[in-house]
Parts: sequence; C-alpha cells; structure tokens
Amino acid sequence: MIGLRTSLPAAIVSFLAVSSGAEAYRWFNWQFDVTCEATGFYVPSNESELVNFVQYHYPRKTMLKPVGNGHGFGNLTTCVSEEDTERESYILSLTNLKHLDIHDNNTVTFGGGWDLVDLMPTLEKNGLQVANLGSEKVQNYIGAATTGTHGTGKQHQNLATQILGLRVLDAKGEIHEITKESTPDLLQAYSIAIGALGIIVEVTIQAEPLAYLKRTTKVVEGSSNITELYQQIADFGNKYEQVNIVGPTLNYDQDKHELVVNPNMTLVYWEETDYQGARNCSLDFCSNDCGRCDRDYVCYDYKMEAIATTPSGICYRGFMGQFEHFFPIESLAEAGADYMTYAQAQSDRMKPYIDDEIVGPGLKGHYLSDDVTVITRFVKGDDNWLSPVNKYNLQPNASGIFATLEYSWIPTYNNFTTQYFFQELASEYIPKFGETYNVRPHWNKMIFHNETYSSTIYPKMNDWVDLQKKMDPNCQFINEFLAESLGIDRCQYLFD
Ligand SMILES: Cc1cc2nc3c(=O)[nH]c(=O)nc-3n(C[C@H](O)[C@H](O)[C@H](O)COP(=O)(O)OP(=O)(O)OC[C@H]3O[C@@H](n4cnc5c(N)ncnc54)[C@H](O)[C@@H]3O)c2cc1C
Repeated sequence: MIGLRTSLPAAIVSFLAVSSGAEAYRWFNWQFDVTCEATGFYVPSNESELVNFVQYHYPRKTMLKPVGNGHGFGNLTTCVSEEDTERESYILSLTNLKHLDIHDNNTVTFGGGWDLVDLMPTLEKNGLQVANLGSEKVQNYIGAATTGTHGTGKQHQNLATQILGLRVLDAKGEIHEITKESTPDLLQAYSIAIGALGIIVEVTIQAEPLAYLKRTTKVVEGSSNITELYQQIADFGNKYEQVNIVGPTLNYDQDKHELVVNPNMTLVYWEETDYQGARNCSLDFCSNDCGRCDRDYVCYDYKMEAIATTPSGICYRGFMGQFEHFFPIESLAEAGADYMTYAQAQSDRMKPYIDDEIVGPGLKGHYLSDDVTVITRFVKGDDNWLSPVNKYNLQPNASGIFATLEYSWIPTYNNFTTQYFFQELASEYIPKFGETYNVRPHWNKMIFHNETYSSTIYPKMNDWVDLQKKMDPNCQFINEFLAESLGIDRCQYLFD
C-alpha cells in the first residue's frame, strides 16, 4: 500500500501553510505521490495549545497525524482522509516548538519543531554534533529518529539510539516523561514510535564534541559477474569502517532489450582526522542525487557536513520508487547477488514502461528513467523494539552489524503508471527473500508486508501494540498502513 491511485496535479498547497483547521487540507509527501485529505493542518504555537487541542479532540475521536517533513516513500504520514471515516482528521506540525537547552555532559533537550538543517548548525555553534546522520539534512529530528533513520558505519548506530529521553503526549492529552535513566525499557519502545505512540513534543539526546572527518570518494570497477561483484562489495564492507557503496546500477539496453549490469561503483568512505584547514565537503556530495559520483576526490569537514548534505531544497526532482532492506552483514554477498539477479530478471516486464527521456542530473551524471540504482550501507544493531536493526532474533554467532540494500527505480516525474509498476516490483522482495535473510524494511521507505512478517522481525511487537492501545485507546494515531502492518486489529474496523 503506497500511493492513492488517483493522478493528482502537482501540489499547489504549500507544505508549510499554517491553517487554523477550519478548511480541508490536502497533504502530500515530498514527491507528491502519496496524498490524503485531512479536515485541517494544525500548527500549535506552543505545547499547552497542543495539549488543549488534543484534549478537545479525544472525546470526538478525531484522527491525528503528527508529521515532520514528509520525506518518506511509504504511508507513515498518510492521514485518514476525511471522507473515509465519520471522524475528523488533522495533520499536526510541531514546527513552532523550537526551544533548546544544552546541559552538562553534552546532553541537549529540544522541542519537536527542530529540523536537522537548523539543528546541526545550532549544535555546531555550541561545539556539539550528533554521532551520526543520514545522507541529507532535510528531515525533522523526531521524524528521522522515530523511523530509525541511519547513516553508514559498522560502529555507527541509527539516530534513535542518540535519544536519552522523550516527552510524549498521549491521545487523552496527558504528558509522559520517558527516560533512559528511569524507564529504560519504555525508552526502547518509544524511541522508534512511527507516529503511533503519541505526539513527541520534546527529546533529549546525547551529543558529542565536534570532530573532523576526511571523506574520500573513489570510483571502482566491479566484476560483471553478479556473484563476484557482491563478494567484492562484501569485502569493501569488511575493509572500511564507514563506507557508502553507490552502485552497481542496472541500465536498460535499447538494442538488446534487457537490463544490463553496470558494475561500476563509487565508494564514499570516512576517516577521523585532526586536519582542520578546510571545510569543503558540502560542495559536492555523491549522495542521494546531491552531487556527482563519477570522479575521485577527497574533502575535509566537520562530521555533520562530511556525512550529510544540506540540500537547497530537495536534490532530486523526479519520481522515485525506493525500498531499503536491512539484514545481518554476514549475508551480504549472498543476499546482494540474489537481489540483483532478481531485479535484472525483470527486463521483459519493464519493456512497456521504458522511457528514453533523461530524468535529470544524478549520481552518474544523469539518470535514465529505466535505471535501477543500488546503494549499500552498514549500521550497528540496537535494542529498540521496532528498530529495523534490532538484535532480538539474530543467530547466536551473528556480529550484530547489519548491511542495508537500497533499491531505487526512477520513473519520470508524474508518471504514476510506471511509479506503481515499480512499486509492484519492490513489493516482491520480502515474500521472495525476507525469511531467508532475516530482512527488515526501513519504516519510511516502501513497505508492503503484513503483521505476521512484522512479528517475526520485531519479536517485541505485541508488547509495543499493547503500549499503543494505552497511549491511544480510540485509534486516533492509526492509519490503514499501521493497522495492517502491525496487526492493530482493534482499529481495523475504521478502514473496512
Ligand atoms: C531523498 C531521501 C533521502 C533519504 N535518505 C535517508 C538516509 O540517508 N537514511 C535513512 O535512514 N533514511 C533516509 N531517508 C528516509 C528519511 O530519513 C525518513 O523517511 C524520515 O522519517 C523522514 O523524516 P521527516 O521529518 O520527513 O518525517 P515524516 O516522514 O514527516 O514522518 C515520519 C514519521 O515520524 C512521525 N512523526 C513526525 N514527527 C512526530 C512527532 N513530533 N511526534 C510523533 N511522531 C512524529 C510521523 O507520524 C511518521 O510516522 C530518505 C528519504 C528521502 C526521501
């Protein structure tokens, strides 16, 4: 379940428009392929206004969907459209909750309104940074952390592991303080809460002193044999502590009428350094279409600039179908080869959708609409209940380090037919490889599996669902996607 299958014109509605909630509000995600119509978009000025709003709506059972910046590929921010139930439905933005306090021992408490693009420079001014980020700084901090957003590094964890405490508003309008010190189990439950355990109004994180990194970008030639190619990729993963492997790609050959593996890859890897003479990593970053990947170069910068780009807007303006799957690193060579072989075998099915048009500048100079790009990254596991890299069901000899495969199919902008076809391709991977490789999908990329699969990959899911009921007795934070993928049966009637 991803997009609503109605072709809508590109959004005219400004994402940041502030509505009193009186008129209907159409919500779109970042690439305008996921949409819904809420009763209104509510942007409280402060926490007490939000509490009043939530208390007013509790007896009315109004649907409530807190959002960050809608920078996802799935249905986490899809509101329950007004016409689908007899309830009202609001999108909530905490953008005004911008207080920030820095304490001793480098801990920082701040409101739910902070986006990474503002938060990181503010921390930097105070001599601080966080342990890791994803590859862009477009997300809201809560929006990113609560879905398990990650960067790369075998000793680097996802953002949720930076959290030491949360202040959460439940559906009745009551505040819950959850901290690592007093309620460590609950913090593991709430750190990845995907919008369903209440509205997170404030977070306390562990920050660290500023550090410099050297980033190296290097183009390498891979084997054209897929098995050998993925052994090479696994070897790169073993060699480098913190590496992002961009490629291989699959390109549609117009003469042969088939997808051909382009085994060239770009390694982007980071090393700690004392050199502080330059700050030039933000200029060109081979990451998520925010810079070129077809040349070798090095740069030096503060960690936050070296690992995450600050896009002016969004770096890429086409459509994109993307999943990202995490699995124990030990399976990388085998799983990587299986995924690529399956993707390549879809040539015949892709023929009707092939489009010669160049979509736009991208990682290799340009993207064609029929390219399939794979990125491999690494993440250290953790104990958060719904973490895609949770360590609860690993084999006894597993290292607790995960590899991720990110697959992107790229149709031209507004080409919904191809976008939906690529979503169909993406949906076939979990049934095919999920159990074999213990695969866990990224919460805010394309997800298609059901509760049975969820309970296998999240052994603590039932406890989490019990907690969800306590925080949200009337199913106000739930949408169809959450009800189905987590088996929240008591809310299912709303979507029948
Ligand atoms: C181009 C692109 C690049 C990306 N790169 C990476 C990457 O490098 N690494 C990676 O791991 N991911 C990556 N992602 C995924 C992205 O990090 C996640 O989708 C992230 O969740 C988006 O953050 P957001 O602020 O837009 O959150 P949203 O999508 O708006 O919301 C995400 C979830 O958070 C909940 N939420 C938001 N605010 C609150 C709140 N105050 N209280 C309670 N719940 C809340 C929402 O209900 C929803 O469930 C990328 C996505 C895109 C589109």
